[in-house]
Amino acid sequence: MHNFGYVQAQSRHDAIALLEEGATPLAGGTELLNWARVGILQPARIVDISRIEDLDGVEPLPDGGVRIGAMTRLNDVAQHPLIVERYSVFSQSILSAASAQIRNLATIGGNPLQRVRCPYFRADEPTACNKREPGSGCAALAGINDRHAIFGWTDECVAVHPADPPVALAALDAAYVVESSEGSRRIPADELHVLPTRNPAWHNVLLRGELITAIELGGPPSHSAYLKIRERESYEYATVSAAVALQMDGDTISEARIALGSVAMRPWRLRNAERLLAGRRVGSPEVAEAIAAGFADARPLSHNAYKITLARNATLRAIETAARA
Ligand SMILES: Cc1cc2nc3c(=O)[nH]c(=O)nc-3n(C[C@H](O)[C@H](O)[C@H](O)COP(=O)(O)OP(=O)(O)OC[C@H]3O[C@@H](n4cnc5c(N)ncnc54)[C@H](O)[C@@H]3O)c2cc1C
Ligand code: SF4
Repeated sequence: MHNFGYVQAQSRHDAIALLEEGATPLAGGTELLNWARVGILQPARIVDISRIEDLDGVEPLPDGGVRIGAMTRLNDVAQHPLIVERYSVFSQSILSAASAQIRNLATIGGNPLQRVRCPYFRADEPTACNKREPGSGCAALAGINDRHAIFGWTDECVAVHPADPPVALAALDAAYVVESSEGSRRIPADELHVLPTRNPAWHNVLLRGELITAIELGGPPSHSAYLKIRERESYEYATVSAAVALQMDGDTISEARIALGSVAMRPWRLRNAERLLAGRRVGSPEVAEAIAAGFADARPLSHNAYKITLARNATLRAIETAARA
């Protein structure tokens, strides 16, 4: 591991000033320190944001929503009564991530900024990877791609974003609150990550000097659920996942929001299916038809056509589970 400088910021103002100078924020460190160890990132200076007091906690908002400080640990978010009672899809998505030990350390602001799990991106030896070395190509396109994208990929990159909580946040129409010396801005949850159609080397839209300070959720859905399909029941990234947030009138869906995880470089909203689901009774054949319409633009790679069927079935099951909750 390369040597790096370490500074503890005592305030947002201090942290942002250091970020503008090129320092890298350290939250729980469960990703960042691994990257430094394997050479994915070689930060010259790290600014520890864990001592900034007002970045932690879950509080209700006057409009019926909730604000979560970016430094709040994953387990503290998932177990908070406001989240358990009102946003079960979010709580379930967090509790399905990593292990209890990692969730005690990892933060809700750091989690969406984790990087892709593509084996070529994480390889010890240099290999063709536009995300790791821009312009070098994409070894996964004709190589190991069974866990890769079925939506929004290009020949430049076919990776998926692996995180769970951001999928639930996308289904909840949440927003990341970001601060810099210019002021603050809100980034909708499904717009934080960058598709390779825009730039294969980018991971997210954060600019130098920007700090995620909070996540804001609007009013809760009447029914919600998160379903994660993975190769083993714990300590495993999703093969696919489905987050569903519904407004129900009896057994009929009045409004649906659906986001899929591990199918694209960002949480993938099934907006076409969402429109078709309004007014449909859960359990009717029209629900499965609406979901199928949401997959009209899915494109498999050489080894991952199975993910289309898996994600379609996961979506249907998540809707049925949410409706029963
Ligand atoms: C073995 C293992 C299994 C895992 N399995 C899963 C899983 O199944 N599902 C899942 O979702 N995740 C999984 N994870 C990822 C884990 O959840 C992340 O490592 C963690 O959430 C990152 O949070 P952190 O606070 O430790 O971030 P850090 O490692 O501190 O930072 C990560 C990145 O975010 C930046 N950053 C952090 N906070 C901010 C901020 N407030 N503003 C701007 N930039 C910031 C850092 O500079 C860095 O670039 C796994 C991790 C490991 C090691
Ligand atoms: S899929 Fe993306 S991360 Fe993986 S090798 Fe290709 S460019 Fe790199």
